[in-house]
This record gives sequence, C-alpha cells and structure tokens, in this order.
Amino acid sequence: MNPLAEHLLNACAETVIAVDPCSLAIVAANRQAESLLGYSVQDLIGRPIADIEVGLQDLFFWDEVKNGNLDEYQSVEGEYRHQSGSLIVVQKTVRLLNIDGSRLYVLSVHDTTAAKQLEDETARTTSLLAATLESTVDGILVTNLAGGIQHFNHRFTELWQLSASQFGTGEEPRALNLLLDKLADPANFREWFDHLLSQAQSEGSTECRLLDGRVFGVASRPQRLRERPIGRVFSFHDITSLKATEAQLIAARDAAQAASRAKSEFLSHMSHELRTPLNAILGFGKVLEEELLGAQQAKAAHIGKAGQHLLDLINEVLDLASIEAGKLRLDMRSVDLVNTIRDCVALVTPLAEARNIALHVKPLLTDRFVVHADARRLKQMTINLLSNAIKYNHEGGRVEIAVTASGDTHWRLTVLDTGIGIADEDSAQLFESFNRIGSHAAEIEGAGIGLALTRKLALLMQGNVGMQSEIGIGSRFWIELPCARSSALEPVKPAVAELAKPNEPVTLLYIEDDTLSQKLLGAVLTRKRPQYKLLTASSGAAGMALARENKPDLILLDQHLPDGIGAEIFKTLRLQAETRAIPVIALSGNAEPSAIQDAIVAGYAGYLTKPLQIDAALAHIDSVLLESGLI
Ligand code: ADP
Repeated sequence: MNPLAEHLLNACAETVIAVDPCSLAIVAANRQAESLLGYSVQDLIGRPIADIEVGLQDLFFWDEVKNGNLDEYQSVEGEYRHQSGSLIVVQKTVRLLNIDGSRLYVLSVHDTTAAKQLEDETARTTSLLAATLESTVDGILVTNLAGGIQHFNHRFTELWQLSASQFGTGEEPRALNLLLDKLADPANFREWFDHLLSQAQSEGSTECRLLDGRVFGVASRPQRLRERPIGRVFSFHDITSLKATEAQLIAARDAAQAASRAKSEFLSHMSHELRTPLNAILGFGKVLEEELLGAQQAKAAHIGKAGQHLLDLINEVLDLASIEAGKLRLDMRSVDLVNTIRDCVALVTPLAEARNIALHVKPLLTDRFVVHADARRLKQMTINLLSNAIKYNHEGGRVEIAVTASGDTHWRLTVLDTGIGIADEDSAQLFESFNRIGSHAAEIEGAGIGLALTRKLALLMQGNVGMQSEIGIGSRFWIELPCARSSALEPVKPAVAELAKPNEPVTLLYIEDDTLSQKLLGAVLTRKRPQYKLLTASSGAAGMALARENKPDLILLDQHLPDGIGAEIFKTLRLQAETRAIPVIALSGNAEPSAIQDAIVAGYAGYLTKPLQIDAALAHIDSVLLESGLI
C-alpha cells in the first residue's frame, strides 16, 4: 500500500478492514482495528474474516459471497469477537470495490456496544416503570399541561369502568367527559381539574362521588422533568369503604355525645330537683332534733344524717355530670398541701375515732409542698381517699398520710390503710363511676362515685391518681398534682408556737454566708419570736465550731456555703457526738421536688426554700422544735 494511502487509512476514525472476496481473508486493516479487536495489524492480515465476524447474519453474508453472490453495499449491525474472546456489537458498512479489475470488500466498522447497552438499559427501565405503574392500587392518569391525556394505567380504566380504547383517544375534552358523565357532581370536579391546570406548579386533592355510589379520593401533583413541569399526574383511589366506616364512626360519636349530653342534662336536672325537697328534710329534721327529746330526738338525728348523706351524694353526682359536660370550672392556684392535709385530717378525725382508727400524718418537713390545684376540689379528693381508708378499714386499724416527690414536676399525696384491700382483678374498675366492688359493698355505705370523681378532677388539674393494694393487708391510694412554680401561697395557718411559752430559752444557729439573709431572720425573730436566741455563722467551718461550742437546739443550714455544700456539712454534723442529735433544717433556692425529697431522705428535719416565706418558715421551725419537745 502506498504510504499516503496508509496514512489516510490510519487517520480514519473508524475501523477499516479490507477482505478478499475469494479467500475471505483480511488483506488490510488500519490502526483503529488494533484497538477495536486487540490484534496487531500484522496478526489481522491473512486471518479469515470469520474469526472476527461472528454474528449469524455476518456468517450468512460471507457464505453468500463465497457462493459468488456479491452484494454491493450494506449497512448492518454485526457482532465481532475481540482477541480476548469478548463480543462487541458494531454498526458496519460493507462496500464492494473494483480496483483495476480485482475486487475487494471494504468494511468500515463503528463500535456500538455502549450505545446498545444504554438502549437495553433504557428499554428495561421503561418496562420496569410501566410494570410499576400497572402494579399500583391507584388508578393513574397522566396529562400534559393542557390536560391532554398522555398515559393511564389499567387500574385507572378498571376503576372508571371504561375500556382503554374508549378512553385512550388523547382528545382531552371527549376523554374527560367520559369521566364527568359518571360523577354525581361533575361541575365541582371540572372546576377543580381546570383550577389545577391553570396552576402548573400546585398540588391538590379532592374527593368525588360517582353516580353508582362509589367515592374516589383524587390527588394531583405536577409531573416535572429537570425541575420544569411538563404535565400532571392524577391518582385515583377507591375510598368507598373508608368513607362508610368514617360515616359510621361520626354517627357513633354523635350518638355517644348526644347520649352523654342527655345523661349529663338528666343528672344535673335531677340533682337540682332533688336538692329542693332535701332542703326541707334537712331543715325540718334539724328543727325536730332540737325540739324533741330522748329516743325521738335520736330518730330525728337519723333523718338528718341520712339527709346529709343524700345531699353529699347528689353533690358528687352533680360534679361528675358537670365534668362530663365539660362545665366544671376550676380555680387553679398555688395550694399548700400541708394546710390541705391538716384541714382534711381534722374533718375525718371523728369518723376515724368512731372506728378506733389511728390517723398518722408522716412529718411534712418543707414549706414547699405546694401544688397547682383547685384548693376546694383538692380537699374534696383528699377527703374521698381518707374516708375510704377509714370506711374500708378494720376496727382499730391505721391510716397514714405522706407526701413524696413524683419526678421533678409533681407532688404525690399518698393515703395508706391497713384495711380489707382490693383484689387485682377489681382494681381496674375502681376509678369507674358507680362501680362498687367486693362482697362488702352491700354493708359499707357508698355509691361508687368518689374515686371516679377524684380521678377526673386530678386529670383536669394535669395530675393523676393511682393505687396499689393487697387483699387482707391494705391499700395505698395516691393523687399526683403538678408542683406550683409560683411562690404566691395561700395564707399560712397561725404558727404553732405563737402562744407557746418556752420552758428554757431556745437557741437557733443559722449558718448562712449572705449577711442580709442573716439580718432578715434576726429581725423576724426579734419581732415574732423574741423568746428564740439566734446565733449566726458565715461559713460551714465557723458554723460547725459554733455548733460544738453552743449546742444549739436547732440549726438552719444554707445549702451553698463558700467552704462546702450543705450536704457535706450536714454529714459532718451527724458524725460528731456533740452535734449528732441537733435537728437541722436545710435552706435552699432549689425547689425541685426531687431535691427536697433527697434532703428529707438524708435525714434533715426540714427543708425551707428561698426566698423564705416568713410565716411558713416560722411555722416549720416551731413544729420541729415542738417535735423535739423543746417548746
Ligand atoms: P364508694 O366508697 O362510695 O363506694 P369510691 O368510688 O370511693 O366509692 O370507691 C369505689 C370502690 O372502691 C368502693 O366501693 C370500694 O369497693 C373500693 N375502695 C375504695 N377505696 C378503698 C380502700 N381504701 N380499701 C378497699 N377498697 C376500697
């Protein structure tokens, strides 16, 4: 081959191969053939073309050539074998040249393997997408931006009970009319459809009822290609049974609400009607009791007692009815649990004494048992628990009242009794109204409303109730209420020691680094407790030295001193023989229930929070001194 021709051949971007039509062997090839087939040009020359071209069509072609049927021109797809054995898909052009009487086939070859792979991949993805579209439970309709039908799946025609040929015309108005014809309110759907078409980027959903009674949920989103909207996808879902269930639920809810309203109205009406004659029964019962004598007086007293019981019952029923009707108004304030417990215990003491039951209030050692509650309702709830603990107790039994922390947000008031207890299987019904349980129900007075009311009130106050019980051993019922963050308290009861005269002078030691606080307590004591002598120390070490030296009757210990935390100083005071027995009240700015609880568990005699509530603090100091027998 002349050099120019060879250069031209090698400069060509495609693979070029020349084949002798008689021997069917390769007679020339360019450099591109080397990189396409992995053979050197020398290796290719003389090699039968059948070694390279392996597609069935190629074999037939060379067979024809061998038989003398020379084709002039062809552009076909073929399959080549690389020297490594791998197959290459090519697009080739075959030309028959006549050069000075001798014939030569020239093949120019282009590798299309990658393009073919892409094409196969695209075909696979397309069929996968089509299969996915067909597998959804939703009927899918795709339109262009003008609303012209582009595509829909089989489920779509199935839902709308149309044949694909009927619908698939692509003529938007006619196709859409086929849907509109089946709707109970076509104008509404048309309006929604047109509105969406006018807003290419927006999404929307609606429901449409068909004339045959079915209901479809429809959602539409823009179809986007590279962020640009190119059409819309509508998905249709049959929600007929969902709608039916929803309608049933709404009807059931409305019926329940109506029934509950009717019940509440009835109860409230009845309660009011009952109160009027009770007024006369109670009033005249009282008059008779005062006028009569002896056995008759006792009988009149019975009428009065029974009337009072009936009135209590009516009041509870009325409360329950107003809670259920959402009409109960609570007067939420900061309420001191200690005061509440004191008042309630006083109220139920005659009941307990009548059955020889001991009421024991566990020492309530802080001024911070303050809850966010309705004071009157809280008393009602506490009395419910206390009177149950007495009612369902044995003669000579015991009732204990304690307050503990429930996490950092709530105080828990617990009433424990040594009574008959409650079986596990009954405990779930306790807090339901009118549920009285156990064989004693007939003998012990009650209507089964108290606990239900207590629970409802606690929930209304963002609290809760709970219980634990063991049959034959006793029960523990509790109310949890959120602790009040505000320091505005109800007025504190007059302090115990106001009138008490000390037998001997009482000495208090106040360990506090803040001199203003020291001065404040000094001034308060001078005015309100002149009989108390106050010593002060500004550090833990100085406080401990003073305590050893003077053996005060009570120590007030600030929890954050410059030379140590209160807990450490308290521990040291407990370890030393001279100071071990002195009661210590903690003073701290931390009013978290858990901090108070920890201090009480550690053995402090009390816990006062800063800023000090003067009267409450004095009452606590008095009660600790009283308990120690010092006043
Ligand atoms: P009542 O006491 O008026 O029946 P409650 O709602 O206060 O209604 O109590 C419901 C039921 O729970 C009572 O009938 C009683 O069977 C049971 N119960 C409540 N408190 C106790 C308790 N401390 N010990 C044993 N059983 C109790």
